[in-house]
Amino acid sequence: MQHYHYIFTGGGLSAMMVVYEMVKNEKFSGQSILIIDADDKQTNDRTWCFWDEQDDFDGIVSKSWNQAVYADTDFRKVLDLKPYQYKMIQGKDFYDGFRRTIEGKTSVHFLQQKVLDFHELGQHCIVKTDTQSFTCNKVFNSIFNPEMVRNQKKYPLLQQHFVGWFVKTKSQVFNPIKATFMDFSVAQNNNTRFMYVLPFSETEALVEYTLFSKELLPREEYETAIAKYLENIGAIDFEITEKEHGNIPMTVYPFWKQNTKNIIHIGSAGGWTKASTGYTFKNTVKKSKALVQFLATENDFRKFHQKNKFWFYDLLFIDVLSRRNDLGSTVFSGMFCHVSPALIFKFLDEETTFAEDLKIIWSCPKKLFIRALLGRLF
Ligand SMILES: Cc1cc2nc3c(=O)[nH]c(=O)nc-3n(C[C@H](O)[C@H](O)[C@H](O)COP(=O)(O)OP(=O)(O)OC[C@H]3O[C@@H](n4cnc5c(N)ncnc54)[C@H](O)[C@@H]3O)c2cc1C
Repeated sequence: MQHYHYIFTGGGLSAMMVVYEMVKNEKFSGQSILIIDADDKQTNDRTWCFWDEQDDFDGIVSKSWNQAVYADTDFRKVLDLKPYQYKMIQGKDFYDGFRRTIEGKTSVHFLQQKVLDFHELGQHCIVKTDTQSFTCNKVFNSIFNPEMVRNQKKYPLLQQHFVGWFVKTKSQVFNPIKATFMDFSVAQNNNTRFMYVLPFSETEALVEYTLFSKELLPREEYETAIAKYLENIGAIDFEITEKEHGNIPMTVYPFWKQNTKNIIHIGSAGGWTKASTGYTFKNTVKKSKALVQFLATENDFRKFHQKNKFWFYDLLFIDVLSRRNDLGSTVFSGMFCHVSPALIFKFLDEETTFAEDLKIIWSCPKKLFIRALLGRLF
């Protein structure tokens, strides 16, 4: 049976990010790495957006915005994002960029197979695919198992689910200078529902109908909502050039408790998705750097995770939205009305001081959060 130092089960965002950090770090030179993914990662399977002050990914960023719109039924606000920019990376550009980085590195291997199982056998691990088995010192798993979260009641699971259309319109209906983060002016139907628009030009955009809720909708419901939204903004004649859909877990379930000495869960499977927003990209960049630095000096993955105050804030937020899914727009409007986008981003990046946290918390409907707090305390 072939042996590797490290095997990555799943080779998407988090696996590539961790391997990228490893190949940059001399401590890992000469260590053999196998990345196993069922997919060839050659298609544009997702569009990532994130806010950023740095220029780390600018070589593959295809569009960025300095302004964004937040809207509700009774107000519309243009947000100046300075000192951040909202940036977009196409999945295919990211995957190709990663392959270019590791080109010529003989220690990194790819395998397109379906992983069936992996487990730890004392001093090493075994990974089984549909046709082969391998051993390794350590496994990094990013294959998400939703059952793990569904089979418990302590930590509710919401989903950020959406369908997006890339459209090309006949008339000029988009403003390419401003992205639309959240437009809650659409019917809420007892959920947290909004439109998200990434305009590339006056006639081209990605328009997504998004929910933060427990249950998915029938596909037609997302698509009908997008068509209606486009009609409302004057896009009568348009062509759909591509579609995307997603379903991102929003939970504070302690995934890290499943880590063993030699197996770590990374990416969404490791709880690297920010529970209150579904954003994962930036957190993955940070966690990947931290994980590789950790592994350069430590050997036991169980020591990697550290719980912080933001985990508790997210817990209360998910409790509130689980109980009162109809009030999501009220919570977000409170925040976007009273707090600067820069502070909101800093808070979501988990970099704020306690005094800054209080400014954000104060802007949210207090009764809802106090009730959630009491529910968790008692
Ligand atoms: C359409 C879409 C848009 C998103 N947009 C954003 C965004 O704008 N900003 C943001 O921060 N986050 C976004 N996310 C959330 C998150 O960033 C992505 O889901 C991200 O790819 C998560 O990284 P990951 O490594 O956890 O999982 P993935 O990148 O999904 O990697 C997991 C890999 O495991 C493979 N796999 C699964 N099962 C098996 C198996 N049995 N055997 C072998 N391989 C297997 C899959 O093929 C996949 O490549 C988006 C998600 C989706 C789906």
